[in-house]
Amino acid sequence: MSALDDNITKLNGYLERFRAHGTPNRIAGQDVAGARGVFQTHTPVDKSVICDVAHGTAADIDRAARAAAAAFADWRDMPAKQRRDLLIRIADGIEARAEEIALCECWDTGQTIKFMSKAALRGAENFRYFADQVGGARDGQHLPSPTLMNVTTRVPIGPVGVITPWNTPFMLSTWKIAPALAAGCTVVHKPAEASPLTARLLVEIAEEAGLPPGVLNTVNGYGEEAGKALCEHPLIRAIAFVGESRTGSQIIRQGADTLKRNHLELGGKNPVIVFDDADLDRALDAVIFMIYSINGERCTSSSRLLVQDTIRADFEARLIERVSKIKVGHPLDPETEIGPLISAEHFDKVTGYFDIARADGATVAAGGTTVGDEGYFVRPTLFTNATNDMRIAQEEIFGPVLTSIPFATEEEALSLANDTAYGLTGYVWTNDLTRALRFTNRLEAGMIWVNSENVRHLPTPFGGVKASGIGRDGGDWSFEFYMEQKHVGFATGQHKITRLGAS
Ligand code: NAD
Repeated sequence: MSALDDNITKLNGYLERFRAHGTPNRIAGQDVAGARGVFQTHTPVDKSVICDVAHGTAADIDRAARAAAAAFADWRDMPAKQRRDLLIRIADGIEARAEEIALCECWDTGQTIKFMSKAALRGAENFRYFADQVGGARDGQHLPSPTLMNVTTRVPIGPVGVITPWNTPFMLSTWKIAPALAAGCTVVHKPAEASPLTARLLVEIAEEAGLPPGVLNTVNGYGEEAGKALCEHPLIRAIAFVGESRTGSQIIRQGADTLKRNHLELGGKNPVIVFDDADLDRALDAVIFMIYSINGERCTSSSRLLVQDTIRADFEARLIERVSKIKVGHPLDPETEIGPLISAEHFDKVTGYFDIARADGATVAAGGTTVGDEGYFVRPTLFTNATNDMRIAQEEIFGPVLTSIPFATEEEALSLANDTAYGLTGYVWTNDLTRALRFTNRLEAGMIWVNSENVRHLPTPFGGVKASGIGRDGGDWSFEFYMEQKHVGFATGQHKITRLGAS
């Protein structure tokens, strides 16, 4: 049996329960049918139905928010060691079911097993990392003044909403839910409607690990209905959101009346800048990896290549050769490097840019075609002869599509790199140290890597500037979002209190 057939057999085993029972909402430790019945989720591999999904509404969100509010005090007050041990058991549970998570995720999203097997394990790492931070999460400062002993402490903000996208849903969910739980918050999670399966697996694993009912609740549904209701709910204190920039604006609007704290991780049109003094072999590998892995459906992808004109012809030629050899195929085949795009709508959006590129005067140097008609497959695509004002250089395509733009000088590279509404990541390839220092200092991005692809280190801050987001994840930054600072001043003696009405 081939590795692909083997994976398909295993997948069918894992899908049986979804086919029989769908993905109901999970509220207060109970399966709850969606108030509006069900909708169906399809696989982008062959467009077939995977299963029914609970169609949650504002009524389901209300029930989940109440459950999260009811569970909050006990969860907040659970001793740190007990909470830590529980989060570690969740990490163990994720590892034990990593294969099931990875196969279901691939079938639901079209992501390849090559990358998703690691995504499940990174989800476990997120729980393990934040479990280790629980002990110090509430620590504060001692800030004495002449008359007071001032102390600070951090307390969890309360029940929070987590709204996640479809691109790497399991990993992204754990990235938000692990620190929220570690901080002592309870959670209502609204997964993306296009990829609900692994959110169900996560809540199951968490409950099996001993998470009390109501601490993590999952409500499926559409963004404009269930997601909106979550943002508007008065019992929900904060929203951690990952998704498109224009949805981010809606999240702020929807939360305005209840004064929500929002953390927004949004889109990107990230530049990778390759100077002629760089290690061009490594730069080439990184350029290819950062746009064509994860189907290019990756917020941190380097979708704009800014390449110095002195090396442009050779670099683009090598790029075309490699891109043309990237393997597009069934996502459960371990050899496959690019699977299908998530949905018909997204497929239309991505392929639409092939014509837009031509109409605007760019060259389709590689790809620019679809593959078969069974699923939503496209060839990895490279646009050359582009300028930074073209739509293919300004708009987030969110697929395996790279736009190459030449530059002559460092100043021009910087100006092109910053000439975008977004500011999530930037990648700089040069062996000139002082240039790297100058360039990173002026590059408008939340995260920058020099002579490296994106390598995530959990204690570092993750997030964007401009239209790419507000707020940071990672390390203690996550706790700053899910917790409130509290100050208490204790009088150390009988200092003078100004007396009114006493004369
Ligand atoms: P999306 O904004 O369409 O949807 C994201 C989530 O928001 C889904 O669960 C959706 O149901 C929900 N939603 C939609 N409208 C809503 C509303 N009015 N109120 C509340 N919730 C609502 O994004 P997507 O298409 O699922 O994901 C792709 C986008 O996510 C890309 O722009 C990508 O760059 C971004 N992304 C960003 C990061 C990051 O860390 N910066 C990571 C991954 C993806």
